[in-house]
Amino acid sequence: MLAAAEPTDILVQAGHQGRPASCAPHHVKACNVGTGAGGAREQEWTVAVADRTARVLRDHGYTVIRRPADYDEHDVARAAVFLHFDGAKQCASGASVGFPSTTSRAFVHAWEARYRAWFPFRFVGENFTKNEHEYYGFRKVDAPNKMLIEFGEMTCPAQLRWMKPRLAAMGDELAAFLMSQVAR
Ligand SMILES: [Zn+2]
Repeated sequence: MLAAAEPTDILVQAGHQGRPASCAPHHVKACNVGTGAGGAREQEWTVAVADRTARVLRDHGYTVIRRPADYDEHDVARAAVFLHFDGAKQCASGASVGFPSTTSRAFVHAWEARYRAWFPFRFVGENFTKNEHEYYGFRKVDAPNKMLIEFGEMTCPAQLRWMKPRLAAMGDELAAFLMSQVAR
């Protein structure tokens, strides 16, 4: 290797991927395997969207680190996204985002504007749970912009039906957003 490598462009984590098997080796006590409904599991949906996002970004020449729920590495990237779907009292929730205070509001609001224009259900808020604001994944990467995305509520049948055939399209939306924010 010559000089220190440039930071990777984008880190994409698929929420809950690899759990519960990854919890014990990583000493994860609260082994949250995610939500699910109607035979669909969050940890499969997050993988579908994350893989699609990574593929589109790489097709456009971006470098990508693709992470599961639990891993040893500490990363450096220009932006980092952590993908989830929500579970709630039926239809009490919708899409949302979480982010640390270091993330720029412009980055968050650009995603919200883009996703609200496409997702035909409620956007329930920003950092609306402590878990979203203090997500453990945020501590595992140095990046100027880090954001947890809840794409919608799986436990709401109408949202589930709408989202199920659109996981690839979600990846396309997220990749397009990231490319609009991180210039190459
Ligand atoms: Zn989740």
